[in-house]
Amino acid sequence: MLFGVQIVSCIIIATILLHYFLNKKMDTFSNKIFSIYLAFSFSNLLFEFMTLWDLYHIDTIVKPAIDVTHLFFLATLVVAIFFFFLYLDAKARGQRRYSAMQYALRFIPMIVALCFVLFGDIAYYTESDGVYSYGPKTYSIYIAVVGYLTFSAIQIIRYRKSFRRQEILAFMLGIGVWGIIAVLQITHRVWLLSSLGLSFMTLLVYLSFENPREYNDYEIEGTFNQYALDTFLNELLQRKKCFYVVDITLRNTVFLKSTIGTAGINEILKDMADTLERELEVSVYHPKRYCITAILQTEKQKTKLMNTSFDFMHEAEGGIRLSPQYSIALLSCPEFADSKEDIHAMLEFAVTQIPEEQKSLYILGDEDIEKKKQSSVIEKVIQQAIDDRSFQVYYQPIYSGKDKQFVSAEALVRLKDPETDKFIPPDIFIPMAEKNGQISEVGNIVFENVCRFIRDNKPEQYGVKYIEVNLSGIQCVDQNLKNILMEYVEKYKLSPEVFNLEITETAAVNMEERLRYNMRVLRECGFKFAMDDFGTGYSNLAKMAKSDFELIKLDRSLIVPCFEKDKDGEAEVVLNSCIDMVLRLGGEIVAEGVETEEQNEYLLQRGVNYIQGYYHSRPLPEDQYLAFLKERSARG
Ligand code: C2E
Ligand code: CA
Ligand code: CA
Repeated sequence: MLFGVQIVSCIIIATILLHYFLNKKMDTFSNKIFSIYLAFSFSNLLFEFMTLWDLYHIDTIVKPAIDVTHLFFLATLVVAIFFFFLYLDAKARGQRRYSAMQYALRFIPMIVALCFVLFGDIAYYTESDGVYSYGPKTYSIYIAVVGYLTFSAIQIIRYRKSFRRQEILAFMLGIGVWGIIAVLQITHRVWLLSSLGLSFMTLLVYLSFENPREYNDYEIEGTFNQYALDTFLNELLQRKKCFYVVDITLRNTVFLKSTIGTAGINEILKDMADTLERELEVSVYHPKRYCITAILQTEKQKTKLMNTSFDFMHEAEGGIRLSPQYSIALLSCPEFADSKEDIHAMLEFAVTQIPEEQKSLYILGDEDIEKKKQSSVIEKVIQQAIDDRSFQVYYQPIYSGKDKQFVSAEALVRLKDPETDKFIPPDIFIPMAEKNGQISEVGNIVFENVCRFIRDNKPEQYGVKYIEVNLSGIQCVDQNLKNILMEYVEKYKLSPEVFNLEITETAAVNMEERLRYNMRVLRECGFKFAMDDFGTGYSNLAKMAKSDFELIKLDRSLIVPCFEKDKDGEAEVVLNSCIDMVLRLGGEIVAEGVETEEQNEYLLQRGVNYIQGYYHSRPLPEDQYLAFLKERSARG
């Protein structure tokens, strides 16, 4: 009698069992089935030991005792195989609900086999090499095992799209091993190999289907990854469950990254994940950077979430304590999103809707769905405008205090919604295009448009020295930026000197190597640069003011407060200090958003070089801009 096989099998299954239960698990349906399968496989092995022991000592043990261990051995085997099948079936069918008929088809063979186990006959006989059991009790089990394995194979082939290649291969290999074992078992009855088949199959399935490495996130210990989240979402949706998805996203990550680094950020997220897990008793996912997610399946958890505080203090090196900003959103599914793509999209959208300083729970509702729909419409309008290159460019004249004329203009993109024939504000569609990866194309279209305008209309004849063109943060770090811009410049036979490229302060602060490089090579070609929206970011003002920019554009928000009725004088100090600093460092200044004569006079008098704003002119379409230039230059 070969106990060896059973011992090896037992070690394999016990190891898997231990590994499986020591690792954190998601609460998916298939996970639950797999746990039951493992438990039955392991008990089956234990009973197999007992039956072998009984048969070995058949002369000294009473028959009812032998019968009972056999009964448990056979019953656990059939139940284990049944759960194995159910597990693969759940994976294959993606948790679609069963009809009554489908239930019957799956359960009846197991119940019939169990009836045979309970009530069937069994007999034992002795041969020269050992003692064997036989009879309908035993045979029915073999039929059930072969039946369920065949059924599993059919389901895998039928639903092969639900599986990865390696999963199908592992399973087929497992079936092959079972087949070989079956043949060996028939030809060498003395070997008793069923446990080997069971443990081998379990090992293969564990490694390819249930391997915690596939699900665990290694950046934030104790959390699961995006794949795990998607698997669970799919399961809940297909089972038509109602649930909530909670998403906590860190804000102001540029600042966090520069102060505490990625490791510090992950520590904060880990703290948050631990709190969620502890307070709500849920698994936590880390599907993407700066964000953790959990799924709530009860109202009680939702209420608890509302009462949980996530106000963490993070202690950075040197004892600096900072309280990170974050947004927390709750989405009810499938009420507001019924596919994993929609869920991700809605949660991402939520982050754009939640005010920076709001720390309380933001519950997504009908209004957000409506807004999200509008944003999808805008996305399509952008794509259409890219396809037909139908963006328009308006020009806002910029006045020079020294030359007393309009020496430049800012090119501003305009997009019309063909349905409503209304303009969509750039503040709305530019950030969307940045997020969707459409911005580079938009930028190229604008740049080509400006090139064509300059070539066809020669604005230099009216004293215009250059046109300012906005570059988005994404274009700034594009490896190909120089080639793209130079291609247009050459195509329209222009000189790069007629362009001033505006880069926002925020992009400049995060000045990546690539932006520095791009600025250097573009400057070598002859392009000039302006720092846009100065005063809105978190820059080291002095450092920024003297860095590589020919022009500094003071943001409207620095200017307006100085002219308000209830001004307190502080705003004026800030504005004047900025102006002085830039001028002293040798920079030139454009004041943006100048709307009144008072503002215009004040700023020019303080030494601001250029004025842009509604006071002089709104952004104008090409023909009106040309008319404006002609009229002003004629006036002299
Ligand atoms: P920006 O670069 O700061 O552009 C100045 C904005 O201020 C323009 O808004 C302009 O119409 C507006 N403005 C000008 N004078 C006044 C004024 O006196 N009062 C007030 N209240 N506003 C004034 P616009 O055209 O809506 O553009 C908004 C933003 O969209 C721009 O801000 C810029 O960041 C972005 N943008 C516009 N065109 C482009 C483009 O071609 N590419 C990229 N990447 N961004 C663009
Ligand atoms: Ca600008
Ligand atoms: Ca600006």
